[in-house]
Amino acid sequence: MKVTDHIKNAKRTLFTIELLPPLKGENINSIYQAIEPLLLYEPSYINVTYHREEVVYKPRPDGLIESQVIRKRPGTVSIAAAIRFKYGIDVVPHMICGGFRPQETEDGLIDLHFLGIDNVLALRGDPPKNEKAFVNESGGHVHASDLVHQISRLNKGIYLEEDLLHPTPTDFCVGVAGYPEKHSESPNMETDLMHLKEKVDAGADYIVTQLFFDNRKFIKFVEQCRAIGIKVPIIPGLKPLSVKNHLNLLPGVFSIDIPMELVQEVQKCKDNTQVREVGIEWAIAQSKELMQFGVPALHFYTMGKSDNVCKIAKAIF
Ligand code: FAD
Repeated sequence: MKVTDHIKNAKRTLFTIELLPPLKGENINSIYQAIEPLLLYEPSYINVTYHREEVVYKPRPDGLIESQVIRKRPGTVSIAAAIRFKYGIDVVPHMICGGFRPQETEDGLIDLHFLGIDNVLALRGDPPKNEKAFVNESGGHVHASDLVHQISRLNKGIYLEEDLLHPTPTDFCVGVAGYPEKHSESPNMETDLMHLKEKVDAGADYIVTQLFFDNRKFIKFVEQCRAIGIKVPIIPGLKPLSVKNHLNLLPGVFSIDIPMELVQEVQKCKDNTQVREVGIEWAIAQSKELMQFGVPALHFYTMGKSDNVCKIAKAIF
């Protein structure tokens, strides 16, 4: 079922989670171990992130250093399909522009369509590690809105090859990313919102946000979206803070602020076990307030570890 149908049919705020594929070589059981404790809280759908290739430098036997292009977390589509068929839960595989030509994207969408997966989160992707700016493949998409356009066209049966004998339309429900505290590359919030609207106008059915810790920023973001005519559902993305170092890492990586009250609570902690508890309490309070605000779903970034999300789900559902 599509994410938008889950939202339409919902009798409560939806509980949804995001997982990342295990590191190459690891077992898919780590994914199942993250999911199974959460089944009790009936996740409506599960997102699976996509990780682009990156350049790594490895020492050679002759002492020189060799660069290799590798993908550290492959398997998004197969993990999504495995979850779908093992648990009967809907899945939302992520698709990115980075590293793909439109023909390859089309083939990926055909794979999903044949697997009966009718949801996709359309993203541009970040620049590869060690590179400052995003560069598209030759002929590849530059912005997520280009990818949304491609999916919308496929939903109308318009393939890249125009002379196909039986161009079956796909039927994807498309989500896109939104940034309550602005995307890091955007010169200002207004410009970022304008580009978000372009994604919706290109056919996106809903928005799921970057993580945030201050609900006021999310509420303002929703108001700003509505003011410029964005009418699709907006789903908040939440990540429970879990280690002290998050205070230093998260603002830089995700271009977000951490409220002073949360910073002070974390600084008082003696160790990361205590930090994890503070993160859980903060996320519970955030979730309760967002439910009162009337959000259609709460989307939790698990980073592959679900014990804290489990405690949050237990407290709120
Ligand atoms: P875009 O919508 O293309 O926006 C990127 C920047 O370009 C913004 O500053 C925007 O304002 C600007 N822009 C957009 N359109 C135009 C235009 N026409 N002209 C000029 N500027 C424009 N990354 C992954 O690699 N894999 C994942 O699985 C993944 N999952 C994510 C899930 C969520 C919910 C979120 C919020 C992010 C995720 N990301 C993921 C990270 C995401 O790829 C990065 O944040 C990336 O830098 C931007 O992606 P986007 O889809 O928002 O891009």
